[in-house]
Amino acid sequence: MSGKNEAQCCARVWPMGAMRSSQCLHKAKVTRNSFPYCGRHDPERIAEQRAAKDAERQAALAEKNARWDAAKAANAEQARRAACFDQLVDALHDLTALYHSTPGHDPTFVDKGRAALARARAK
Ligand SMILES: [Zn+2]
Repeated sequence: MSGKNEAQCCARVWPMGAMRSSQCLHKAKVTRNSFPYCGRHDPERIAEQRAAKDAERQAALAEKNARWDAAKAANAEQARRAACFDQLVDALHDLTALYHSTPGHDPTFVDKGRAALARARAK
């Protein structure tokens, strides 16, 4: 076996309650940039774990932003519809009255118009 792989991990650790750091006591499993590391302190493994965690957080954030954008769009659409509500109700009122005064009108359409107006004006 090569001497490097049997070396002690070079990472500094803070034992519980210690006032200062000490060298990790585990045997090195890998060598990175000529430094020996145990499996726990392997910089590449740590970087992979961080990248995976970052990707997870980014995905969660993207999902949250998409939900936020959808809610914002829904609110904007509701505001747009509410802004023209009174105008539509007035137009329906006028059209229903005009149609009602038309000779030979179908009373079903007048009733539908009046029912819709009653629902729209009910609070
Ligand atoms: Zn270590």
